[in-house]
Amino acid sequence: MKNSMKCYLNGSILPASEANLQLNDLALLRGYGIFDYFVFQRFQPRFLTDYIDRFFGAIDYLGLDCPYSRDEVRQAIHQLIAANEVPDGGIRLVLTGGYSNNGFAPTTCNFFILQSPFPKVPDHIQNNGGRVALYQHQREIPNVKSINYMTGIYLLPWLKEQGADYPLYHDGTYLRESDRSNFCLIDKEGTVITPKDKVLMGITRKKVLEVARDLGMLVEEREVLVGELDTAVEVFFTSSIKGALPIVSIDGKAVGNGKPGPKTQALSEAYTALISAEQVQ
Ligand SMILES: *Cc1c(COP(=O)(O)O)cnc(C)c1O
Repeated sequence: MKNSMKCYLNGSILPASEANLQLNDLALLRGYGIFDYFVFQRFQPRFLTDYIDRFFGAIDYLGLDCPYSRDEVRQAIHQLIAANEVPDGGIRLVLTGGYSNNGFAPTTCNFFILQSPFPKVPDHIQNNGGRVALYQHQREIPNVKSINYMTGIYLLPWLKEQGADYPLYHDGTYLRESDRSNFCLIDKEGTVITPKDKVLMGITRKKVLEVARDLGMLVEEREVLVGELDTAVEVFFTSSIKGALPIVSIDGKAVGNGKPGPKTQALSEAYTALISAEQVQ
């Protein structure tokens, strides 16, 4: 992050290098907090209402004491983007468990917003597709975008050893998601199949499934067996940064012919068109 970048913290906009929290915040002591992340282009946050809905959904689910309303959060986002005067980038909303005297009981949340440069998937992955390694893990409270990415970060050296770019989590029987992305496969019939339970409900997942239906593709949201990967014709991940990203190998075995597939390509293009249409509104 540029040193001169401003951030938002508890009602004020200030240089990120000058923003401070106390050390007894539950985010630091216990990894207790939530966040959300989206991109903006030409000063316009992408699918903002969907992200704010998810963020406040998590606040309600956990019963967090968030001192700001939806409208205040929305305004703070726009204020920060305007103050930084950079047209494109990423926005991270973070709500912490708050300062806790006994180090366990939550209090009033601290809320901050960080802006970062426009994120990019590394060129070699964008062009050739991603490689994944299966890993048994079920995210805790999976419908909440918690700040705790212990497993994902712990796996980084392991992924490198496996020659993989990302993990694909499963629970021993069913496939779930990646560390920061949702997962879809396309079967021989051309049906797009994706887990619907015990995963984060990605906004990109939702939008890509919408465009899939618009393109006349069949979509199934259901439990997906690990074994279904063996007959998958295409596999892709979705996230706000990745869009629909082709996955070309799983545990060293090629998916299809090992190249990004045509259906994923069509979905990726339709999703890009949807983004552009939202931009001009
Ligand atoms: C953020 C995230 C996603 C993707 O969500 P988007 O809203 O599409 O960016 C999926 N799974 C996990 C675990 C995530 O943290």
